[in-house]
Amino acid sequence: MMRVVICGGGVIGASIAYFLSRRGIKPIVVERTGVACAASGKAGGFLARHWCDVTPLEQLARHSFDLHAELAEQSSDDWGYRRLATYGGFGAVRGRLSKTPGASLGWVSPQIDITQQLGRTEDTAQVHPALFTAAMMHTAQQHGAELRLGTVTGVRQSAERVTGVEVTGEIIEADAVVIAMGPWSILAAAWLPLPVVYGLKGHSLVFETGDAVPAEALFLEFREAMGEMQSPEFFPRPDGTTYVCAISSESPLPLDPAAVAPDPGAIERLERICTAVAPALASAKIRARQACYRPIARDGLPLIGRVPDVEGAYIATGHSVWGILNAPATGEAMAELIIDGAARSIDLSPFDPGRLPRRRSSRLR
Ligand SMILES: Cc1cc2nc3c(=O)[nH]c(=O)nc-3n(C[C@H](O)[C@H](O)[C@H](O)COP(=O)(O)OP(=O)(O)OC[C@H]3O[C@@H](n4cnc5c(N)ncnc54)[C@H](O)[C@@H]3O)c2cc1C
Repeated sequence: MMRVVICGGGVIGASIAYFLSRRGIKPIVVERTGVACAASGKAGGFLARHWCDVTPLEQLARHSFDLHAELAEQSSDDWGYRRLATYGGFGAVRGRLSKTPGASLGWVSPQIDITQQLGRTEDTAQVHPALFTAAMMHTAQQHGAELRLGTVTGVRQSAERVTGVEVTGEIIEADAVVIAMGPWSILAAAWLPLPVVYGLKGHSLVFETGDAVPAEALFLEFREAMGEMQSPEFFPRPDGTTYVCAISSESPLPLDPAAVAPDPGAIERLERICTAVAPALASAKIRARQACYRPIARDGLPLIGRVPDVEGAYIATGHSVWGILNAPATGEAMAELIIDGAARSIDLSPFDPGRLPRRRSSRLR
């Protein structure tokens, strides 16, 4: 049987493991810190079927949105999948941002102007991303996949094909190796001829709102007290929590995923935004104050496919703001590529890692 090692236990690594295991392959997933410990556990988990239309992501996103629905229907695990309506609008800490007052939502302050409905239950949905990732991994394990806690430190090669993965000094032999370490995939540019991947930091809060916030996602353009514009996103979840994210920063990515922490002052700013947007948030207990990095390639499109010039080497990362949405279709296509030699379910050519210049670099602090 083909020996596949997946480096990274985020939503992408776990989804690849899931689809490989459904096809009879028993991959080993090597995860440094914990399944979904990074962006895959701290993302919003918002899914939209059409928001990537007329971009190279259209087919991937539409197919993945449909796969999310299928996976939720087929599984007895509950990862908080539900359809929800989505709204957009404007707000400010003081006064109004919009010149023409819009409608309002019952749970949102009347100072916030809701100007459009961005999605309906037919085309916007959500998952709890940590639960989804854990379920993908756990189901893969039930089908024979193995999860090993360890730090990948290199990829072994002989005659321009991979032979294994170095995990803290030990070698795991492999016929195929998938780099799925999110923004830490930059480390693999020292081991394989790969394009650079960046990490862009985002901050988030999880509130305990009970049933005070209905199933309505909200995207705002919001002016802070000092005049800076933010784009906060609000996702009430079926478990009685409400997730809010905003405030991006280019703070350097730490080498250790466990060392990611919010920037000084960012959480306080986000709390002030939430207090101004909704009384239900102002009075709610905060369960989590957190930060994470989304992985981004130089042209903003994911890297999904074969690593050029090294037989058996693959990469799947750079999913930016749509990694939770696009994980199932990425996992399915990667399983097809590894097992059958080509993806059938979607066209992977826009995401070919060979389209970008390669660099051998792994500088992290
Ligand atoms: C604030 C925010 C909100 C978001 N909201 C949404 C959303 O609503 N919808 C959506 O679709 N997307 C969203 N995203 C994007 C999404 O979170 C990411 O695209 C996705 O989680 C990336 O998954 P990944 O598996 O590639 O990387 P990660 O989740 O970063 O996983 C990489 C894994 O690799 C491990 N690792 C690192 N180094 C090593 C090593 N040397 N050896 C072994 N393992 C290693 C890490 O510990 C980590 O578990 C959001 C992102 C952010 C930042």
